[in-house]
Amino acid sequence: MATIFSKIIAGEIPSYKVAEDERFYAFLDINPLVKGHTLVVPKREVDYIFDLSDEELAAMQVFAKHVAEAIQRAFPCRKVGQAVIGLEVPHAHIHLIPIQKESDMLF
Ligand code: 5GP
Repeated sequence: MATIFSKIIAGEIPSYKVAEDERFYAFLDINPLVKGHTLVVPKREVDYIFDLSDEELAAMQVFAKHVAEAIQRAFPCRKVGQAVIGLEVPHAHIHLIPIQKESDMLF
């Protein structure tokens, strides 16, 4: 059965797209910690980011870096924090979170 993120990528569930290429999709988190909280996911459905191949993981990180740069332009902040949690949705993803202060990253 497709994950909720696969349904989002397929357009079956609406999302606010931040960026996309052939292999990865970035969209705003539905329950953001702060404004601009974004999720980066591979289109290939795998449970956790460490289930990706080394090459896919490296490419996803480069994609996330470019998304983080765009987020920082749209939501001026000290840094864009990155977190991997994966407790709720079994489809690999990286959280990108604009942060002004440490508590912005508290889940
Ligand atoms: P995690 O699996 O890393 O613990 O958290 C999953 C994240 O996905 C949560 O921050 C949650 O708000 C987000 N999320 C879950 N379902 C949806 C959805 O249908 N749409 C969007 N945009 N985000 C979602």
